[in-house]
Amino acid sequence: MIAGSIYFYFKQSASNLPKPVLISVSSPITLFILPLGEVSEENIRLVTKAIKGNFKINCQLLDPIAIPKHLYTHKPTKSLIQEGNVYHTKLDSNVLAPDHVLYFVDSLMVTTETLGSLRLDSLLRKRGHYLMVLTEKALTDEAGMYTIRGIVTRVKEHYQKYSIVSSYLVNKQSATRAEYQFRMEKVATHEFIHMFGLHHCQESKYCLMVGVGEGGLTLGQGMSGRLFYQTPNALCASCARQLKQAMKRILPVKEKNAE
Ligand SMILES: [Zn+2]
Ligand SMILES: [Zn+2]
Repeated sequence: MIAGSIYFYFKQSASNLPKPVLISVSSPITLFILPLGEVSEENIRLVTKAIKGNFKINCQLLDPIAIPKHLYTHKPTKSLIQEGNVYHTKLDSNVLAPDHVLYFVDSLMVTTETLGSLRLDSLLRKRGHYLMVLTEKALTDEAGMYTIRGIVTRVKEHYQKYSIVSSYLVNKQSATRAEYQFRMEKVATHEFIHMFGLHHCQESKYCLMVGVGEGGLTLGQGMSGRLFYQTPNALCASCARQLKQAMKRILPVKEKNAE
């Protein structure tokens, strides 16, 4: 319903519309989803649905973990909230710092269906294993200045294997439930794609991998999410090709030859 109405706005350029994501490679990719703090059934369902709907991969839900106090930053971060045509800067408190979250979850003991009980960092050392931390708390950017929707961590040996998705800002910025749900699915898909090394899209404004707060956008536009929110749940041809290649690269050698 929402996707339909978004396509409607771009009718003029229908010939170069991005394609729905739907990437299917026979690779052994598993995404573990870890709810951090209280996370609603709806949010878990939305994120799982987005990943499973867009990629033919295995998703496994881990047991939720309570948030220790040291994961929060000491100062509030800024976000932009739209009221009518006017944007207001808001200060968000109780904001999670991505690096604190990363160091905390790294040493957690988790239990998975297939591997039993093990430390999360050993789980992610395995080929094709990825983690998405899902939270309803606000999340800061790396500089601790602005509230963001999601991030892929780039530190330590598990380069790009962790992502954090926060529903906080999308919830504050969405006027209806349908709008919120559609946006949350896109945030989860966008962060998941970053984990395969894709950067922000330089090809199309209507690609799911459009950047926020960079690539010629003013900070205000990035914070408002305007450009990202108006994309369909779809990738431009260039991003789709890069993603498919990136996913193929993690195939075990013998499967690679069979492709
Ligand atoms: Zn991004
Ligand atoms: Zn693109």
